[in-house]
Amino acid sequence: MSDSVPMATLRIAPEFSARVVFDAPMSKYTSWHAGGPADLFFTPRDVADLAAFLRHLPPTMPLLWIGLGSNLLVRDGGIRGAVVSMNGTLGGLERVSATRIQAQAGVPCAKLARQCVKWGLGPAEFFAGIPGTLGGALAMNAGAWDGETWRHVIDVDVIDRRGVRSTRPATDYVVGYRHVERHADEWFIGARLEFERKPGINDALIKELLERRKQTQPIGEWSCGSVFINPPGEHAGRLIEQCGLKGFRLGDASVSQKHANFIINHGAARAADIEALILHVQRTVALQTHIELKTEVSIVGDA
Ligand SMILES: Cc1cc2nc3c(=O)[nH]c(=O)nc-3n(C[C@H](O)[C@H](O)[C@H](O)COP(=O)(O)OP(=O)(O)OC[C@H]3O[C@@H](n4cnc5c(N)ncnc54)[C@H](O)[C@@H]3O)c2cc1C
Repeated sequence: MSDSVPMATLRIAPEFSARVVFDAPMSKYTSWHAGGPADLFFTPRDVADLAAFLRHLPPTMPLLWIGLGSNLLVRDGGIRGAVVSMNGTLGGLERVSATRIQAQAGVPCAKLARQCVKWGLGPAEFFAGIPGTLGGALAMNAGAWDGETWRHVIDVDVIDRRGVRSTRPATDYVVGYRHVERHADEWFIGARLEFERKPGINDALIKELLERRKQTQPIGEWSCGSVFINPPGEHAGRLIEQCGLKGFRLGDASVSQKHANFIINHGAARAADIEALILHVQRTVALQTHIELKTEVSIVGDA
């Protein structure tokens, strides 16, 4: 909670209380299964409910948006302020023309991929192995196998902290590799995406891509996917491996033996162990290769 909004004085109106959790352990909501409590965790029923809740919050309260928490390291001290979750809500997904779809921010990427295949649209298959929401994919410009979220975005629906909704064209955003410059105090609630007609497309391609992932990535273990952005012309994983860091362990966190750009929580790692391991990898790679690795994962919260 920010200094100006002491938690003890915050009163949540009864119409929202069923969807609010106080002191919510963020380890429950992140794929690393680490991190301390959020002061307040809210899952809206729909967009109108979300708008009303945002209007209800003190305007100075810090806000963090979360999808499936698959690219997020929440520190052990947790999050002061409110977390707004898109997990299991805002799940609308429809086809609005021969090649265009409309989806809300809570739609899981895997569902979007499968539904596009059913509609005979592509290339959306790359979304299949990304274990996040469309909102997270928009925030991160998520991508895989030569596919990238923002290559398909026509426009996005956003909401600001006063609960005001608007639509912005894709051209309003500066987008880069795993990076999007968002407008301050504004979050994604949906988007329209354009694909191509791919008659005859079927699930086989998705299955093949998922199989390829299983061969090369530690799927099923607690991770956040790739921790570091690939430096231009390089692969972060290859650099980390070259530095002899595969398997390097701090507490219950280690660099994956299968893919060196993944850090695994073996069960009891604290966020501090994971962050210390991230720093160790960065320092070692910088010393040995003079290349600075930047994190892809968002690191948030109090130490
Ligand atoms: C096993 C594994 C494999 C992965 N493979 C890939 C891959 O191939 N390619 C890839 O790009 N990523 C990959 N990832 C990382 C992750 O899945 C993606 O970055 C995904 O897009 C994050 O979505 P999320 O809903 O989980 O976002 P979260 O982790 O919940 O949030 C990520 C960031 O986006 C912000 N955010 C979330 N929702 C919104 C919103 N609605 N509006 C504004 N900001 C928002 C959050 O505040 C945070 O800063 C992988 C992760 C795992 C665990």
